[in-house]
Amino acid sequence: QAKAQGKGTVCFFSPELTRRAKHRLMLDAELRAALEGNELLLYYQPQIDLVNGRIVGLESLVRWQHPERGIVPPGEFIPLAEESGLVVRLGDWVLREACRQIKQWSEAGLTPRQTAVNVSAVQLSRGRLIDSVKAALSETGIRPEQLELEITESCVLTDRDQSFKALADLRALGVRLSIDDFGTGYCSLSYLQQLEVHKLKVDISFVRGMTTNNGKASIVRAIIALGHSLGLEVIAEGVEDEDQVHYLRSLKCDVIQGYLIGRPMPADEMTRFLASFDPPPILTDARPMLRP
Ligand code: C2E
Ligand code: MG
Ligand code: MG
Ligand code: MG
Repeated sequence: QAKAQGKGTVCFFSPELTRRAKHRLMLDAELRAALEGNELLLYYQPQIDLVNGRIVGLESLVRWQHPERGIVPPGEFIPLAEESGLVVRLGDWVLREACRQIKQWSEAGLTPRQTAVNVSAVQLSRGRLIDSVKAALSETGIRPEQLELEITESCVLTDRDQSFKALADLRALGVRLSIDDFGTGYCSLSYLQQLEVHKLKVDISFVRGMTTNNGKASIVRAIIALGHSLGLEVIAEGVEDEDQVHYLRSLKCDVIQGYLIGRPMPADEMTRFLASFDPPPILTDARPMLRP
């Protein structure tokens, strides 16, 4: 059995498993303390309109400022928080913090159209997400359209009826909805149509290598065409070089996000970024010139 699972897996009751289980327990306890002790923070990454080069949105990305280990990325603690259910409380914190920050930027006249928050399947299926969102909106007084929720395709599969209802309620409230990592999950096209989200995010794995790999290029082209034919906005994640920008623009992709434009950064850095941003030449020069 263990052998069939391949390299890197372990048998039951092995010392390795015990060690890992202990490590997880410790991490879980630490994460609970982190949530209480203000060790979490949000980074923000800009999203740029491919037509006019303006910042149209931000995505918030949680970080754990660990007293000894420094900044811990979400990939190292979100899956665990999802398993233990702690992600519900963590998600509430993220929502509040993002809305508070949106309010602050709004008052400074800096805020882009919307700021996205990542939402886990667990938050969606527990049925309280709508209450958390309402609370965060009313506490901060921001408009619902200023908030975007990113869900993954797996969200919809966990508990379909509950998730569909939660999303319909959120949509009715006026918040924006997008499907994250699109193309990597199992969202059927009929779900996609029923979900009535506003936006698709093309997953990094397709964008990376898109300009050298025909298969990936085809997938990106198909996702953009699908999104547009359903009336959705399409954003490409993980844009790192100019060839990708040219290709995405030729496909009429609406928005890009990636290291080429800006890495995820703390709020104070983003404040300066928003205040001083000029579209890079790649986004302003490359438009077709009208010849006299
Ligand atoms: P995601 O929502 O798909 O976020 C995109 C990830 O790609 C982020 O990693 C971002 O830093 C990274 N990225 C952005 N541009 C580039 C690029 O040009 N190149 C490359 N190589 N990477 C790029 P990060 O911040 O480590 O987040 C990883 C995942 O953790 C997120 O994937 C999301 O699923 C989850 N996550 C982050 N924050 C939260 C949160 O507040 N709540 C929940 N539930 N999940 C979160
Ligand atoms: Mg995301
Ligand atoms: Mg993604
Ligand atoms: Mg992801």
